[in-house]
Amino acid sequence: MKYFYILLVLMVTNIVAGNEFEKWFEDATMRIDYFHFGDSRQDDIAIDRIYRYDTWPGRHSRLIDSYGNGLYRVTIRDAENGEVIYSQGFSSFFGEYQSTAPAAQGVKRAFHETCRVPWPKYPVIFSLDKRDGKNEFRQYFQFLIDPGDISIIRQMTGDPQVKIIKNRESGPPAKKVDIAFIAEGYTIEEFSKFKKDLSYFSNVLMNSEPYRSMADQFNIYGVFKASVESGVDEPRAGIYKQTALNVTFNSLGSERYLMTEDNKALQDIAGHVPFDALVIMVNHSRYGGGGIYNQFCVFTTGNQWKEYLLLHEFGHSFAGLADEYYTSSTAYSELNTPTIEPFEPNITALHDKKIIKWKSFLTPGVQMPTPWKKKGFDKMDYAWQSERARMNNQIAELKRKHAATNDIIEAEREYDRRDAGHTRKVDEYFLQSRFFGVVGAFEGAGYMQYGLYRPMLDCLMFSKGKKPFCVVCENVVKQVINGYTN
Ligand SMILES: [Zn+2]
Repeated sequence: MKYFYILLVLMVTNIVAGNEFEKWFEDATMRIDYFHFGDSRQDDIAIDRIYRYDTWPGRHSRLIDSYGNGLYRVTIRDAENGEVIYSQGFSSFFGEYQSTAPAAQGVKRAFHETCRVPWPKYPVIFSLDKRDGKNEFRQYFQFLIDPGDISIIRQMTGDPQVKIIKNRESGPPAKKVDIAFIAEGYTIEEFSKFKKDLSYFSNVLMNSEPYRSMADQFNIYGVFKASVESGVDEPRAGIYKQTALNVTFNSLGSERYLMTEDNKALQDIAGHVPFDALVIMVNHSRYGGGGIYNQFCVFTTGNQWKEYLLLHEFGHSFAGLADEYYTSSTAYSELNTPTIEPFEPNITALHDKKIIKWKSFLTPGVQMPTPWKKKGFDKMDYAWQSERARMNNQIAELKRKHAATNDIIEAEREYDRRDAGHTRKVDEYFLQSRFFGVVGAFEGAGYMQYGLYRPMLDCLMFSKGKKPFCVVCENVVKQVINGYTN
């Protein structure tokens, strides 16, 4: 009898949810492109173009965002009665730019961005909300969109140069998580390498938890557009390549931050398949990556940490997980102030047992904050960070001066050896700790040495290597998968 009621409740919920979607939306996607510009004080939006694509691969139920994650939020309201009919949190490259030193000095920059929402049947108000000083959302931009507007671009004939590979098919896009792996820095001759890389990295993802246990919930596509040259830009080494998506190292001035600012090219290519999540797969051997929540992630395919890079960056872009590490230098100068509770689900400033975000996962009886051997770790890790910076500068210098290829390769190998050695030391340090496997509140997280806490000693979002997510991160990823498939 109990099960009957549960089933009945589930059926009714589904019917209501389905009706809600059909009441307001068509099974199509509205792609809203805009320019996001300003400096650290100014944050403005100017609409670029709007496009229509067949099918809406995203959520068809629970249309209002329940995760509360992301620096920004898009909200769609019915223009007539003002009812919120769809919302979704996300983060933005411009948002990261705002926290850099040039932005603080008043250097204005513009970034091209996209919001994708289900196609409304009636005129709607598209609005963007941003976090205020207390991390609460405040609306700061709105724009009326009439789906009947003739300036909306509807004829989306495919680009004959784009090739699509179906890597994994589990069911209709509306019911599954659809991931598109987009090729970057592969020449036409390297198409077979792209296919090989796609199948390798699709397996990497599907063989890691929690994706592995939910593998039948995923569709995976490869989308290939040949680049004129192989590889991507390395500005510090004086190397510039002509590629499909204009991905570059040294984004926002950071050594290993690999990003594209050519969002239009990315969206035009990705639009050949229905997708919920975008992964830019970069044909390059250097270590580099980046991930922006509900936008895309980027990783390189040819270095010793390639599997970790994909899983870590996808954790950012797919689930909105924060970096749990704090010792490496980043492009951001003030992303987290410990006086404000961060919005990401896996870091916190509030370590009280009764209110901590992950209280249901705490190890019974754990001391809060959890006293781990932080001093020893900091000494070891900061020493490596400065050594690493020195070696990276040396390699960039060799490349700039067009040193002999063998010298460059030898310098890079030496770097890789030292890097792997340091990672082994970190792994051993944690394995010896009596807190290994414990869930508590470990100080040091989100680029802050003090004042922010992470759930476990180690996690895919904390240190490099072959390791799982901590239980908190794993649970967040599961929730996000369920959001797309239930
Ligand atoms: Zn974690």
